[in-house]
Amino acid sequence: MVKVDVKYTKLFINNEWVDAVSKKTFPTINPQNETVIVQVAEADKADVDLAVAAAKKAFHRYSEWRTMDASQRGLLMLKLADLMESQARYLAELETLDCGKPVKVAEGEVYFAASVLRYYAGKADKILGNTIPADGEVLSMTLKEPVGVCGQIIPWNYPIPMMLWKISPALAAGCTIVLKPAEQTPLTALAVAALIKEAGFPPGVVNVLPGYGPTAGAAITHHPDVDKVAFTGSTEVGRMIMGAASVANLKRVTLELGGKSPLVVFNDADVEKAAQIAHAAAFENAGQCCCAGTRTYVQAGIYDQFVSKAADIAKQRSVGNPFDDVQQGPQIDKEMYTKVLDYIKAGKESGARCVAGGDRAADVGYYVQPTVFADVQDDMKIAREEIDKEMYTKVLDYIKAGKESGARCVAGGDRAADVGYYVQPTVFADVQDDMKIAREEIFGPVQSIFKFETFDEAVDRANDTNYGLGAGVITNDITTAMAFARHVRAGSVWINIYNHVTSQTPFGGFKDSGMGRELGEEGINNYLEVKTITMSFPKRPLL
Ligand code: NAD
Repeated sequence: MVKVDVKYTKLFINNEWVDAVSKKTFPTINPQNETVIVQVAEADKADVDLAVAAAKKAFHRYSEWRTMDASQRGLLMLKLADLMESQARYLAELETLDCGKPVKVAEGEVYFAASVLRYYAGKADKILGNTIPADGEVLSMTLKEPVGVCGQIIPWNYPIPMMLWKISPALAAGCTIVLKPAEQTPLTALAVAALIKEAGFPPGVVNVLPGYGPTAGAAITHHPDVDKVAFTGSTEVGRMIMGAASVANLKRVTLELGGKSPLVVFNDADVEKAAQIAHAAAFENAGQCCCAGTRTYVQAGIYDQFVSKAADIAKQRSVGNPFDDVQQGPQIDKEMYTKVLDYIKAGKESGARCVAGGDRAADVGYYVQPTVFADVQDDMKIAREEIDKEMYTKVLDYIKAGKESGARCVAGGDRAADVGYYVQPTVFADVQDDMKIAREEIFGPVQSIFKFETFDEAVDRANDTNYGLGAGVITNDITTAMAFARHVRAGSVWINIYNHVTSQTPFGGFKDSGMGRELGEEGINNYLEVKTITMSFPKRPLL
């Protein structure tokens, strides 16, 4: 087993590591084997009050942060990006431990997050206003100023990228931050906090508070000294956050919420390539991706061929220990795992044709049942713990030998198949638009395939959802592709590619998928207030 050193488990307030005021802690669980990794300090309202006070102080007009040159803010961000990359492997292993995503993927995400920091570092001293030829004998100009203290609440599916998507534009704008990571994945946010301190950011600029949503999260969204809330997570909680953000004061709100994104494949597509793109669209991050292309619409002429290809690819997807070279690790926690399996059951019951997967993935991980032999000189007991493949095989060989030599096996005696939140990559064909699996966000490794005939039918059905985060189209006909891109109601449209998100390109949703955009030029505007200054500018001298 890979041993990962967990260095930080306390709250990070004012550049210090502190216990929660209540002294409470909560466990963070390893989704591979359902064991407690470590106890983490649990923030609540009293801690949020302290963190917001620190962020407010750091935002004072004469503070080190507010009087710092904008270019210096950019340099601190570049330093943080370098530090993150220098620890990319460690951060990735910590992420894999806490979140279950394959370690290679997690490492790539660290580099992506660093690229977001660098993109916004370059923007720090290029935040420009306008001069405006206003009516009357005046000269007007606009200044873009930081919005103030920002509360940022992030989910568990991409913990490091989500943190850097949130803090990078805020730092470039000159804001201060109170960030709450998801309760399932607090560890990497704390490790990045340590690097923030090391990079030289002044105290109070970034505060990181692990804790639960209804307590710590709600305290942030209700706090009168928080000027803006940025949230990524479920639409349900997004609605609550919008309400809460208007109670004590009128906070600026940006929301990145759920999705049920369509990917439309036309008859002229290369079936093999299209099936590969559609597979990656649906299964990336074990399907735990807000813009996952989970509704695959395939035109009738290639439908059967596509379904069989999609099933083959899904069957070949490797699921296993995320520290190994696999494509898919476990789902994040028991709740999500159970929810995904319930959706799979609902899909089967509603008559959709399950052509791949359809169950938990049982043959995953190196787990051995606690085994007891009696009637031998010494009892042999093997604890149910994770070991590497070599040890696992060796232990099973010993158990076999024990049985063969006539010892009486009175407990266990085999591999343990029910450990970890693993789900088989699952493909449903012949899905109908009104089925539950067609309408609700599953957030797991489940692809639904639908048949369509005409362009307009595809557009109408693609748009028949409350969500509007991502959409994709696969065709070699540029007119069809652009017509689809024009008419589909989604914040990102991908043509012959899917889920390609970069620091330069804005990302966010139409409809119930959220409001505001992250990344790119638009991403920093959410952290800026526009101030108009108008001064007398007479056409003739007054004296
Ligand atoms: P969630 O929305 O409950 O949690 C996301 C974040 O919000 C976490 O940090 C959580 O602690 C916090 N939060 C929860 N309740 C809060 C409240 N009342 N006030 C303030 N903050 C609060 O998401 P989840 O429970 O982790 O997952 C549930 C569903 O959300 C998933 O099935 C999926 O559909 C969706 N989801 C979407 C994304 C995304 O990227 N858009 C990410 C994760 C989950």
